[in-house]
Amino acid sequence: MRLFWKLFCSMVMIAALACSLGGFVLIDGQFRAGLDARAETVMTENALLRRTLLRELQFSGGLDRAAAVRLTEETFATAEERGITFRIADSQGQPLAGSRLPVESGLARALGTEQQGWELLQTSGRAYLHASSPLALGGETVYLENWQDAGDLFAAREEQYHVFFYLLMGLILLSALSALAVSAWITRPLGRLSAAARQMAAGELSQRVEVRGSDEISCLAQDFNQMAEQLEQHMRALTDTARRQEDFLRSFAHETKTPLTSIIGYAELALSRPDQPGLVQESAACIFREGRRLESLSRKLIDLIVLENERLRLRTVEMSDFLEQAAAVLRPGLEQAGIRFETRIAPGTAEIEPDLMESVCLNLLDNARKAVEKEGLIRLDGIRTEGGYCIRVTDNGRGIPREELARITEPFYMVDKSRARTQGGSGLGLAICRRIVDLHGGQLEFESELGRGTQVLVWLKGEENA
Ligand code: ADP
Repeated sequence: MRLFWKLFCSMVMIAALACSLGGFVLIDGQFRAGLDARAETVMTENALLRRTLLRELQFSGGLDRAAAVRLTEETFATAEERGITFRIADSQGQPLAGSRLPVESGLARALGTEQQGWELLQTSGRAYLHASSPLALGGETVYLENWQDAGDLFAAREEQYHVFFYLLMGLILLSALSALAVSAWITRPLGRLSAAARQMAAGELSQRVEVRGSDEISCLAQDFNQMAEQLEQHMRALTDTARRQEDFLRSFAHETKTPLTSIIGYAELALSRPDQPGLVQESAACIFREGRRLESLSRKLIDLIVLENERLRLRTVEMSDFLEQAAAVLRPGLEQAGIRFETRIAPGTAEIEPDLMESVCLNLLDNARKAVEKEGLIRLDGIRTEGGYCIRVTDNGRGIPREELARITEPFYMVDKSRARTQGGSGLGLAICRRIVDLHGGQLEFESELGRGTQVLVWLKGEENA
């Protein structure tokens, strides 16, 4: 059963129950009050009759049962004509004088010789209020009994029930209409939520619902939106990863195909011309060069894959010593190539894994070397920062176009492919650097201007921040 109908039925049922119960209690209370008032009248009437009878008996001097019977018949002969019905009966309820009680009654026996009382007598659709009081006459007890028709009270109650039934029908109709409106009002946001969830299931992850108010359903809508946001982000990340993996594989295939084609081509050439030692020599040199490229590529790939699951053991290292050592490795080569290499290294510590961080520094310095012309300038700075240490590699080389900056750390990404390949590059160096810096909890930043140079910053955490 749908929530809409559950709400609707429960509201209508509660309204119907409450109205009928209220109506019944009200009508019944009114009926009882009327009955009590009528009983009071009958009792008063009984007391008056009793007093009159006793006075008459005193005047006539005899107070025995026969005198009472006689007097009753004489004195109240006219009373019956005025609609007052009464009788004298013995303790067994047998009538001695007066009118005939329409229904047999045991009230006299129940009352005893002291009490007076009343009862409701009902017979074949008629009702009477019957009062009785004992009279001691000459040592004998008789009962003065009177009664009144109470049928009008029952008829009035019937009439009230009748009217109330139609009223109840009207109320139920009215409450059904209100219940329809309220159920629709309550369930409309749920309908919107459900439609949004269906659309999301169909792939529309940008779907959101409007949040109105602060009730439970609004909270649910808020949670739904949060969940949708998370899901969308998650899906975007997954799609991104899948795209990157695809790009990676495509680039990998491409990068390995080029040297392999060269190797096969040169090998074929050498085999087909064994009589030309110069050509064979040249082919062998090309095969060797391309083989080295393949070897370097596979080494870098292995590094990248291994780093993917690496957990580093960092230690506090004095960065000035560390950077001086890294600079010393490259300095002879750079100077030989006619490149100016300057260092300005401040003392300070950082939490690093030295071998991996050295690989980052060498990679960045090597990139700078490839970017500068002869007599270019490369600077290696070590800067102590508030929470750690920063390594800065600056060159005045060809620079990187602004729109390419965001992509240069993607695997196999090369700004100028042919130039990079000629220089032995494969586009994996910066991807490895980024991974290593990420593992250190640091940040890798690039600033570059085309034709003016590039600056790479490696922000590392210090001892207190690690
Ligand atoms: P590669 O193995 O080709 O050096 P990297 O991942 O290290 O690969 O670098 C990606 C690309 O970014 C390079 O091909 C190069 O075009 C560009 N690049 C990196 N560093 C610099 C720099 N200092 N100046 C100019 N271009 C750079």
